Amino acid sequence: MTDALLEGEQAAMQQRQREIAAQMQRSEWLLAALAGVALCLSAWLAWRTTLSVSRPMRRVEAAAHRIAEGDYSTTVLVRGDDELGRVAQAINAMSAAVAAREAQIELLAYNDPLTGLPNRTRLRRMFQGASVQPLSVVLIDVARLGVVNEALGFDTGDALLACVAERLQAAILARSGTTVPVPARLAGGVLAVLWPGAPREALEPLREELDAALAVPALIHGHELDVQLVYGLAWRDAGTPSGIDELLRGAEAALAQAKHSRLPWAWHVPVNDAVRTRQLSLLSDLKAAAAGGELELWLQPKQCLRSGDILGMEGLVRWRHAQRGYVSPADFVPFAERAGHIGVITRAMLDAALARLTLWKAAQPRLSIAVNISALDLQDMGLVQQIQQRARHHGAPLANLRLEITESSVMQDADRVLPVLHALRGIGVKLSIDDFGTGYSSLAYLQRLPVDELKIDRSFVADADRSAEAQALLRTIVELGHSLAMCVTAEGIERPEEHALLQRLGCDMAQGYWISRPMDPQAAARYVAALDSRVLEAEPV
Ligand code: C2E
Ligand code: MG
Ligand code: MG
Repeated sequence: MTDALLEGEQAAMQQRQREIAAQMQRSEWLLAALAGVALCLSAWLAWRTTLSVSRPMRRVEAAAHRIAEGDYSTTVLVRGDDELGRVAQAINAMSAAVAAREAQIELLAYNDPLTGLPNRTRLRRMFQGASVQPLSVVLIDVARLGVVNEALGFDTGDALLACVAERLQAAILARSGTTVPVPARLAGGVLAVLWPGAPREALEPLREELDAALAVPALIHGHELDVQLVYGLAWRDAGTPSGIDELLRGAEAALAQAKHSRLPWAWHVPVNDAVRTRQLSLLSDLKAAAAGGELELWLQPKQCLRSGDILGMEGLVRWRHAQRGYVSPADFVPFAERAGHIGVITRAMLDAALARLTLWKAAQPRLSIAVNISALDLQDMGLVQQIQQRARHHGAPLANLRLEITESSVMQDADRVLPVLHALRGIGVKLSIDDFGTGYSSLAYLQRLPVDELKIDRSFVADADRSAEAQALLRTIVELGHSLAMCVTAEGIERPEEHALLQRLGCDMAQGYWISRPMDPQAAARYVAALDSRVLEAEPV
């Protein structure tokens, strides 16, 4: 019994033990599961936390990169008012400020502040690279701007230029058509119109259209000013490798040609091989022409407006070409200048002038001859010695020799030119500024030069008696010239009315067809021989 009881108890205990062991195993499983869940939860939490920081951080980083690449259009999207949110706001504010500043810098760097038009740099950016379509250029030079600046002040000159630019923009806006010309301001008084896609034939009508809209008198600061414009035209075909710089240079060369030949406009003619060969042969012709005496010194009298006496002559080159007859200087002087051979002409003219002065020494000792020299001559210190030697060789009085230099040639390289001018003055040669008013120099600057005569370009003289404004300009130039102790000469007088006007305005000297056309050497000799003896008493000019 007792044994049976004991066994029963044992079995019950074993049962209990098994139950407890099973329960413990379940608890272990539960604990392990709980630990697993806790682990996953903490891992998930850690991942979420990282993400909530790193995602906005990445957005901020990407935005910073975009700003660095110059893209200010997108903003950083980070919500919240925590530290990251504030960093994002700061970056957005910085990006907006940089964008605004960059726009302003762009405006200043690529637009002309006076007219608001695109400048040369902007044009180059717009039209750089090989062309996919034809491209045309019209350059517009506001002529006589230098003199308007000088006579009426820079404010008036600026206002005149701004007025022409405004008219240009309005004229372009009023046009209809598929391709739109782009107006710009290059430098000084030069405006430009670039017209992509336009055929070459369309350029001349465009120029006429612009001229009709632009070249009308303007009322500026109470002055009615004539607007005179000169144009340079250039065109390039689609697919041409030549860049925008080359095209603009071509148009600038055309503009210079138009101004030199006193034409209202000129086309750029690209120099091809055939033309270059012809020019080279002309160049060797030129040297032979000088050696063979084909370059003649023609003379045009200069008259004193007070006494009516002829006090001097301007020497003008004429080429008596064996095949072509007389060639005008306009046909070979600019080319000889470009080719660096103007010295051939200068030497021939100086020699002829000095020989002529020697002949006049006894009978007309006061009469002077003026020789035109170019910018290139003035680069050469040897010029002074050469003139001295030639004068000695001929026995000519240097006090009767005058040299005419253009405004632009002095402005080109003033530092090098000034010592040459002083050296010339030092040997007794007199100097004049030719074609005054066609460049951009100021009288204040010219005053620094050892020059004692100012020759007013003939564009100021032509029909001046018919325009009050032209008279006002002429009067101011004459007065300014006198205030700088310069003798003022008016060029290109063709009509008695112009002659009388300049006399009234107190201009000192006159030159022009109405007094006499340039004469060949024999005609000039006869003219001088017949001159009134009063010239003998006059001071040389
Ligand atoms: P420039 O020195 O201003 O010479 C005046 C020009 O105006 C001359 O033309 C002259 O014939 C012309 N002229 C004079 N009076 C009148 C007038 O009443 N009406 C008109 N319409 N024209 C008038 P040209 O001889 O054809 O010379 C043109 C330019 O060529 C000169 O302008 C000068 O810049 C240049 N040139 C002439 N000879 C020489 C020279 O020997 N050496 C250099 N470097 N250049 C020269
Ligand atoms: Mg001259
Ligand atoms: Mg002249």
